[in-house]
Amino acid sequence: MDITKDGLSAAELFNAGKGLTYDDFIVLPGYIDFQAADVNFETYVTRNIKLKRPMISSPMDTVTEWKMAVYMALLGGLGIIHYNNTIEEQVKHVRRVKTFENGFILKPCVLSPNHTVKDIHDIRESNGFSGIPITEDGTMKSRLLGIVTSRDVDFEKDMSRPLHEVMTPRKDLVVAKKGVTLKEANKILKASKKGKLPVVNDNDELVALLSRTDLLKNKEFPYASKSAGKQLLVGAAVSTKPEDRERVEALFEAGADIILIDSAQGYSSFQIDMIKHIKENYPSLDVIAGNVVTREQSLALIRAGADSLRVGMGPGSICITQNMMSVGRPQATAVYNCAMVGKEYGVPVIADGGIQGIGHMAKALSVGASCVMVGYLIAGTNEAPGEYFYENGMRVKRYRGMASVEAMLKGGSKRYLDDEAAKVTVPQGVSGTVLDRGSLVDYVPYLMKGLSQSFQDMGCPSVTALHEALMSDRLRFEHRTAAAQAEGSVHGLYSYQTPKFGIQ
Ligand code: GDP
Ligand code: GDP
Ligand code: 5GP
Repeated sequence: MDITKDGLSAAELFNAGKGLTYDDFIVLPGYIDFQAADVNFETYVTRNIKLKRPMISSPMDTVTEWKMAVYMALLGGLGIIHYNNTIEEQVKHVRRVKTFENGFILKPCVLSPNHTVKDIHDIRESNGFSGIPITEDGTMKSRLLGIVTSRDVDFEKDMSRPLHEVMTPRKDLVVAKKGVTLKEANKILKASKKGKLPVVNDNDELVALLSRTDLLKNKEFPYASKSAGKQLLVGAAVSTKPEDRERVEALFEAGADIILIDSAQGYSSFQIDMIKHIKENYPSLDVIAGNVVTREQSLALIRAGADSLRVGMGPGSICITQNMMSVGRPQATAVYNCAMVGKEYGVPVIADGGIQGIGHMAKALSVGASCVMVGYLIAGTNEAPGEYFYENGMRVKRYRGMASVEAMLKGGSKRYLDDEAAKVTVPQGVSGTVLDRGSLVDYVPYLMKGLSQSFQDMGCPSVTALHEALMSDRLRFEHRTAAAQAEGSVHGLYSYQTPKFGIQ
C-alpha cells in the first residue's frame, strides 16, 4: 500500500455522479521547487493559437468592444468582440484592435498634398492616429512628398489649409529602404528620434510605415498576444444562424483571427453547419465552438471541425438558464468532462462563466481548461464599454446577460435560438451593476500574480505541467462539505476589512 496516496484523482472526484461547482472541491498541495514568479501560463486558446496568459473576455455588449480587446491582448489574453450590433459596427471594433499595434504598417492611411487639415482631424477622430504620409496622388506606391503629424496641425485654426503647407517635407524625413528587416527598421527609427519611419522603394514610392509608439507598446506590454505581423490578436463572435455567414465574411476581411460561434446550447445542426462552413471557406480562421457541457456535445463539435470548445451552460453570474430551463451542468463537472474529450483530440477547452476570482481560475485550469472566459470579473474595469455611475454611493458600471430582456431588445436573442418574430421572449439572464475595478492594466497583473501563487501551491510551474499532473492522477482533489467551505472562509471575527479586489 502506498501510504502517501491521498485524496481523489479527478476521475474519482467527478465520476461519483454529482455535478460539482468550483466551490464543491479543493485541490491538495503539491511539491514546490520553483518560484511563483517563474510560473509559465503559456497556453492554447485554440488548436493553433497560443496565449501567454490564460484569460479571455466574453463577447458581451457590456464587456468586450475594441478597448477591452486591445487591453486583453496587450496583457497577454484575448478579447472576443460581441455581435449585438450591426456587421459594420462589429467590423469597426475588430479593425481598431488590428490596427492598434503594428510592425510594418503595410496599408497606412495616406493623403495627397491637396487634402486639408480637416482631413487629418477626421482620421484622428475615427482611427486614433494622425501621423499621415503625404504622397503625390494620395495613395501608396506613389512618390513620398512629406509627412503630417499631430504636431503640425494641433494649433492650426484654418481647417481648410492644404497639407503641403503644413507637412514636414521629404528632404527632412528619415526613411528606410524596402527590404529592410523589422529589427533593422526599428533600429533606424530609434536612432532617428522621430515618431514615424516611412519605408520607400528605389523610386521613392511609399511601401510601408513604422511608428515609434509601437516600439514603446512592445516594451511596455511584453506578454502581448500578437500575430506574425505584430498586430494584436482578436476574436469575434457570430450566431449559429445561416444569415451570419455574411458577418463571418466581413470579420475575416477585417482581419479577425478567431471566430467564436455563440450559442447557449451548441449541440445543434445550425452550429455544426456553421463550423463546417467556416472551416471549408476560411481555413486560416480558428473556430471556437460551443457552448457545451457534455462529452457527446464536445465530440460532435470537434468532429465538425471545432478548434476550441467553450464550456458552460448556466454558471454565469448574470445567468438564470439552469433554473428557467432546468438544463445545464455545474461548471467544474462540465469543464472536466469536455476537457477529457478535448485532450483526446488536441482541442483546448475554455471554461466560460462563473469565475469569481483567482481561486476559480486555478480550479478551472486544474480540471482541464486551457483558458478561462470572464465577464463579471472585468465588467467593472475602465476598459469595459459604458460609463461609471453611482448606486447607493458606490461607483459602478452596468453589466447584463446577453439574454436579459434589455440586451435581447438590442438583438442578443440570436444566441438563444429564440424565434425573433415571436412577441414573447423568455429571458435567460439578468441586468445589473458591478463595482468599479479600476484599470485592466493593474487588475490583470494582480490576477496573474495570485494565480501564479496558486500554481506554486499545487506544485505545478506551468499550465502544461498542471495538465500533466491532472492526466496522470498526480493532482489530487477532495470534496468540500458545507462545513469545510465555512472553515475556509473568514469566520469568528467581530469585524474585518475585505481586500481591495474581494476574497474569491
Ligand atoms: P523575439 O524578440 O524574437 O522574441 O520576437 P519579438 O516578436 O518580440 O521581436 C522581434 C522584433 O520585432 C524585435 O526587434 C522587436 O523589437 C520587434 N517588434 C515586436 N513587436 C513589435 C511591434 O509591435 N512593432 C514594431 N515596430 N516592432 C516590434
Ligand atoms: P500619431 O502620431 O497620431 O500617428 O499616433 P501614434 O504614433 O501615437 O499612434 C499610431 C498608432 O496607430 C501606432 O500604434 C500605429 O501602428 C497605429 N496605426 C495603425 N494604422 C496606422 C496608419 O495607417 N497610420 C498611422 N500613423 N498609424 C497607424
Ligand atoms: P460570468 O463571467 O459573468 O460569470 O459569465 C459570463 C458568461 O455567461 C458569458 O461568457 C456567457 O457564456 C454567459 N452569459 C452571458 N449572458 C448570458 C445570459 O443572459 N444568460 C445566460 N444563461 N448566460 C449568459
